[in-house]
Amino acid sequence: NDTTYTVSVSLVENTGIALVTFQDITMVTAAGQMRRDFVANVSHELRTPLTAVMGFIETLQGPARNDAPARERFLGIMQAETERMNRLVGDLLSLSRVEADERVRPVTQVDIVGIVASTIRSLTPLATEANVSFVVDLPEDPVMLAADMDQLLQVFTNLIENAIKYGGRDRNVYVTLEKRDRVNAFRASGVVVSVRDEGLGIDQQHLPRLTERFYRVDSHRSREIGGTGLGLAIVKHILNRHRGRLKVQSKLGEGSEFIVLLPLEQARNSV
Ligand code: ADP
Repeated sequence: NDTTYTVSVSLVENTGIALVTFQDITMVTAAGQMRRDFVANVSHELRTPLTAVMGFIETLQGPARNDAPARERFLGIMQAETERMNRLVGDLLSLSRVEADERVRPVTQVDIVGIVASTIRSLTPLATEANVSFVVDLPEDPVMLAADMDQLLQVFTNLIENAIKYGGRDRNVYVTLEKRDRVNAFRASGVVVSVRDEGLGIDQQHLPRLTERFYRVDSHRSREIGGTGLGLAIVKHILNRHRGRLKVQSKLGEGSEFIVLLPLEQARNSV
């Protein structure tokens, strides 16, 4: 199938033997292609708002120079577009930091119940704006695990923000956290955090690709609500670092559930 080789031939001196070497460089080529795709995607994502801003500057210098209402409107759009670029650059930096740390095991003990509660508190204004209510079920007592607090805050922020944004106005977002003695994925104890919304849902065919960088089910919708297409990619890398998993269940027309599984027991060979 799609295997790429380099072939080299060398003659072994005084033997009449020719040595033919095949080197499988499929992975190397694939990594190069992924890097090129990523750079192309980033450039495109930055260029779109940049082109809009450049166009509006030109209009403001020319035809709209003395048109006060138009000036106000264009400045508003330029602000929104520069905010989008800023978010994109912020997410790119997060992604590259998270990737750089991926092999360093977190060692600090943190309380995941507190982290989820504080994420909900800080997203309450966003929920209120969309008339979304949180229905929350968290244990009373802390649940401690070795983790990077800021990174877990980012995981739950990204998931709960998506549930608010894609869940639709006037709906509920359900957040639960459970400590289990046995989580099948780890064959050990773990924490299960679920973030569920009552939005449009996601077609099954998209589910395996949601954590790819810049993958969006509906690009127009994502851009409209200010998404960068990197949120779930960041979530995936952070969970990898914590030996966690992300499961997604969704039904079109009914809503989506994003489930984070995190192991509680330190693996014996962990660093
Ligand atoms: P974005 O910045 O576009 O929201 P994400 O990486 O967070 O990027 O999510 C990737 C895509 O997954 C989104 O563009 C959206 O299409 C889909 N998605 C994520 N969360 C939800 C959700 N709760 N309901 C429906 N679709 C979702």
